[in-house]
Amino acid sequence: MKNNEEIQRKDKQLLSFEWVLGGIGLASFISSIFLAIPIVETNLPVAIAMYVVGFIIFSVAMFFALKIEQIAGHYQCAKCGHKHVPTFGAIFVAMHFGRTRHLRCPKCGQKSWQKKII
Ligand SMILES: [Zn+2]
Repeated sequence: MKNNEEIQRKDKQLLSFEWVLGGIGLASFISSIFLAIPIVETNLPVAIAMYVVGFIIFSVAMFFALKIEQIAGHYQCAKCGHKHVPTFGAIFVAMHFGRTRHLRCPKCGQKSWQKKII
């Protein structure tokens, strides 16, 4: 049985890893665009392939970053204080500002800006 401190430590590590994933995703997406620009006129299929690969790496990295965001720690309802782990779908569509997301509370049913808490 894991104790709370160990879970907190793991969650913090996961959330740091989320930044790394986001960075890798964004970097590969942006570099694929810049690397493909010089060959757009001479070799369009290769340029398109580079965009696609860059976008796939970006999507995969973002998927795992969001997955981490969903499972690490909890979100706390600003209205009633209830702590919960939202569904992946809710995280995916929720507006966010940093790690604070606009989510519906499963307990009181109200939408609020909910902070991530470890
Ligand atoms: Zn609530």
